Amino acid sequence: MDFTFSTEELLIQQMAREFAEQYLRPATRRIEKENRVPDEILAGLAGLAGLDLFGMNIPEQYGGAGAGYLSYVLAMEQIARVHCGPGLILSAHNLGLGAIANFGTDEQKARFLPKAASGEHIASFAFTEPGTGSDPKQLTTTAVRRGDEFILNGAKRFISNAGYQGPLTVFAIEAESGVPTAFIIDKFCPGYSISQPWEKLGWHGGDVVDFNLKDVVVPLDNVLGKIGDGYPILQFGIAYGKIGMNSLALGSTLAALELAVRYANERTHREQPIAKFQAIQLKVAEIAGLYESSRWLCYRLGFLANDPKSYRDFAREAALAKAVVARNAQEAARISLDVHGSYGLMQDAEIARVYRDAAMGPQIEGVLHMQQIILAGDILRKR
Ligand SMILES: Cc1cc2nc3c(=O)[nH]c(=O)nc-3n(C[C@H](O)[C@H](O)[C@H](O)COP(=O)(O)OP(=O)(O)OC[C@H]3O[C@@H](n4cnc5c(N)ncnc54)[C@H](O)[C@@H]3O)c2cc1C
Repeated sequence: MDFTFSTEELLIQQMAREFAEQYLRPATRRIEKENRVPDEILAGLAGLAGLDLFGMNIPEQYGGAGAGYLSYVLAMEQIARVHCGPGLILSAHNLGLGAIANFGTDEQKARFLPKAASGEHIASFAFTEPGTGSDPKQLTTTAVRRGDEFILNGAKRFISNAGYQGPLTVFAIEAESGVPTAFIIDKFCPGYSISQPWEKLGWHGGDVVDFNLKDVVVPLDNVLGKIGDGYPILQFGIAYGKIGMNSLALGSTLAALELAVRYANERTHREQPIAKFQAIQLKVAEIAGLYESSRWLCYRLGFLANDPKSYRDFAREAALAKAVVARNAQEAARISLDVHGSYGLMQDAEIARVYRDAAMGPQIEGVLHMQQIILAGDILRKR
């Protein structure tokens, strides 16, 4: 087994770390306050687009970097270590684009991927509705065939990036067959309208809005996969989407560790740093263990994603990693908060933000219980 990263992977990790320190760190308070990632962080050569983060997993033939999922995890960890807002935008974008790259026709890929891979467009993936975030049988958005088109009607909830221009993979029940089907639409087409962004507990700046589809006309050419492929596309999407979500949790875990170490060395009692107390040492050691276990699960998932043996095996690995990594982040943030005493409880404290951010992961890209059910089902079937 080889745990060594390639020169290219190390370079991408280093570039993302330097970018996050130089450009993102000074903007973190502004992002928290305005709940918006400044355009200059996202766009242009000096932004995340310049680092190829919007097209990292997209083949070069469609304008992407083709650098693969392990590089993506390494870069996302470094971004999320400083702030999760841009990480959520990138994660949801890669989820939406990944579905098109894997299930789209050549024509669909040529039409939708290049602008999104360059960061000019930002993609979305819309499954959740007011009534369900986990169960495709409960979808209420409908697609009714009319000649060479479908007419889509419905409401989606909590959709990341839905306020940015770009392609949207949306799930609806195809009326004739009664089965979930995926469609690609351009956001802001006639009949598309959005709410104000939700004010969330954490991951500020990663905008999440509701949208309505009112008699949206979608050409037949925009069906993703075949009619009735909605469920496999959704399963693929949320398995691959977990790579981004896990990377956000990993970045938060690393931040929790670094903040605990820094505070333990800076805060003094009787002229000694609190790092001298064994109780503090035990907390730091515990967070370090959580970080190490998350780290290798995340890196391995990135490695597997580049060349999965089978889709089902990958979905199982993704569910396992998510169930552990999301909870590790919460636990690491809780312990680090403890190290900070009352100072950590102040709204402006960095660890307070990390704590709020870490609370987000377990509910998204497959709620925690569902991950455990997928995992247990697979293990029990094999015994
Ligand atoms: C920041 C953010 C970004 C998001 N981005 C997107 C996006 O881009 N696209 C998108 O489609 N959605 C997105 N969502 C929505 C998110 O994926 C869903 O909210 C999530 O899947 C949970 O759905 P729900 O809230 O309906 O919870 P529910 O499914 O109602 O779950 C509620 C509780 O019941 C439990 N539960 C549910 N079903 C079962 C079961 N069968 N067995 C055992 N326990 C169960 C859950 O574990 C949970 O504890 C986003 C949400 C947030 C907060």
